[in-house]
Amino acid sequence: MFEWPNNARCAVSFSFDDARASQIEFGIPCFDRYELKATFFVLPNGLKQNHSKWIEAEKNGHEIGNHTLSHPCSGKYDFSKNNATEDYSLEQIQQEIDGASDLIESVFGQRPKVFAYPCCETAVGTGDSRQSYIPLIRERFVAARGGGGEPCLPEEVNFGFLNATRMDTATTGELIGAMELARQGGQWIVFLAHDTEPGSPSQGVSLEVLDEVLQWVSQQKDVWCAPIGEVADWTKSHLVG
Ligand SMILES: [Zn+2]
Repeated sequence: MFEWPNNARCAVSFSFDDARASQIEFGIPCFDRYELKATFFVLPNGLKQNHSKWIEAEKNGHEIGNHTLSHPCSGKYDFSKNNATEDYSLEQIQQEIDGASDLIESVFGQRPKVFAYPCCETAVGTGDSRQSYIPLIRERFVAARGGGGEPCLPEEVNFGFLNATRMDTATTGELIGAMELARQGGQWIVFLAHDTEPGSPSQGVSLEVLDEVLQWVSQQKDVWCAPIGEVADWTKSHLVG
């Protein structure tokens, strides 16, 4: 029978994308106040801007994940029409992924074990030549975060595409409610957000909300909060046998 560590009734992982400056300025200090650890799926530009602070965050127990080098997404978005997954081959996306792992290794001294799909997309090419790159990801990472979908029981987790619950623009009540449901169900809930700023960021979680949510988490003895890689390792090693 599967059990979470230390008699916890559920697991929660917080993840943030793109290495945005607001994560360094507000988000990480908030996690540090409550001695909680999160996963950050970084991009080279954001990493460069706050190089020494990212190194400090990783040393302090936060997890650094791969989010590719140049964040290719569908050309249907304005920001990616010149870097569209429709124009990528599997070889090219593989270079994006391995290049980002090389960069992370050169900065932090170890290769990332988790990945987040840019825009939650999992395929490259168009029409008949459209191909999933999930197999490439499965070969290289312990777990990869997608988006959408409900939190899962440990037995049901798809490590090649973890369901994730959006924190961007959510309220404290919604986020605590989602964790209470995960606790009732014995599930692993993975959160995903972008900016972490005071007020109401348009693509992000309000710092006030994040603070209230983390305070709540820190007070629950039966909620296990850990980075994605750590929960994935625990789940995989405790599922079998
Ligand atoms: Zn992203």
